[in-house]
Parts: sequence; structure tokens; C-alpha cells
Amino acid sequence: MALSLSFDDGRESQVTQGLPVFARHGAKVTLFVVPSAMERRLEGWKQAVAAGHEIGNHSLTHSCSGNFPFSRQKALEDSTVARMREELVAANARIAELLGVTPRTFAYPCGQTFVGRGRNTQSYVPVVAELFLAGRGWMDEAPNDPAFIDLAQTTGVEMDGKDLAAIRPLLDDARKTGAWLVLAGHEIGTDGRQTTRIAMLDELLAYAKDPAQGIWLATVAEAADVVARRQKP
Ligand SMILES: [Zn+2]
Repeated sequence: MALSLSFDDGRESQVTQGLPVFARHGAKVTLFVVPSAMERRLEGWKQAVAAGHEIGNHSLTHSCSGNFPFSRQKALEDSTVARMREELVAANARIAELLGVTPRTFAYPCGQTFVGRGRNTQSYVPVVAELFLAGRGWMDEAPNDPAFIDLAQTTGVEMDGKDLAAIRPLLDDARKTGAWLVLAGHEIGTDGRQTTRIAMLDELLAYAKDPAQGIWLATVAEAADVVARRQKP
């Protein structure tokens, strides 16, 4: 099985709290960033790149459904496929400018893949398929079957707030079928909302790095490259 750890939004705790945790296990993760969020701690994000972590795209403005009050003024219901395309291209350019790397993978803000409403709803998955090797969802239930998945809709399972006991069944399930489990989180710390626990990460990474467990720990792009090669007709 393959396991990828991913973190969204470019939150500060990912570099202040997360980088030391990943370093002590020699683990590489994927950080899906909103470029403006990185500007406060740019040095930390540059360190993340230097340490070999993957930087992915998480859009420029983090547009979600306007049903979320924070997204009412930038609602996906009011957006278009063309606007999303522009935004994702612009975010890649800004990330390249700030960090010198161009993202090859994307995480859908709020895991939402649509624009418009009702009969005029469209999907922006085709744009993600065109621009990126893979697009990761959020709050999904199952790991990815490498033989079948559409990389543009790679699943992402929440790890925020969970302890290793809650993650273990997901690993056992993925191991049984040779699947690729992509875990997704936000803050990294000891407690609090939308926070992946440091204690869980320490346990999980020690477990995943034990050769006896048969887990390939890879960034989203590394694992997606293998899936893409395998799926090539
Ligand atoms: Zn997000």
C-alpha cells in the first residue's frame, strides 16, 4: 500500500510545528498552499521546499460554496470554469515566484469540484485534469484503487483530531487491497479545531517507516506518478 500525508491552506503551524516532526522521521509530505497565506512565514516555506516536501496548489482565493459564510463573496455558485482556470494558473505562477517550484498537484478547497448552480452547474475537474497530475478531494471515506481511480479526483481522508487508533483501520483496509491512502489535515499541534495531532503523527510515521508494515510513504505527486504510469494503456 501507499500512504501520503497532505496538509492544506498554507497554515503557519505546518512549518513551525510540522517540519520538525517530519524531519525526525525522514518523512516527505505534501503541502497544498494558498500563496497569500505563506507570505507571513516565507522562510519557513522555503525550508519546507529545501527539506524535499512537495508544494501543491490550493487555489488563489480558496473559493468554496457560498453556504460557508467565509466564501459568500467568492462563492463557487457565482464562479465559472474559465475563472477557476485563471485562478489555478495564477496560483501556480505565484507559488513559483515565492518558492521557485511549480505545483504538479492540486487540492480542491473544501473538496468541492463544481461551479454555478442548478441546471447551470459545471464541474471544474476537467481543468484540474488539464493543469495537474492529480487533484485531491476532502472528507472522502475510502482509499484510492490505483487500477481504477481518476487522478483528478483522488480521495482525501481527514486526519485532523484523530489518534492512531482511528487511523489504523484505514491503513489495514488499504493494505488488504494494495490501495493508496491519502490523509488530509490542516493545523498541526497538540489540540484545537482542524488540527492534526503531533502525537498521532509521531506514532503514524514511526509505524509507516517500519519496513515490516509494507507501507510506501510517498508524496501525492510521487504516488500519482506511479498510478499514472500503471494506468497508461
Ligand atoms: Zn482548504
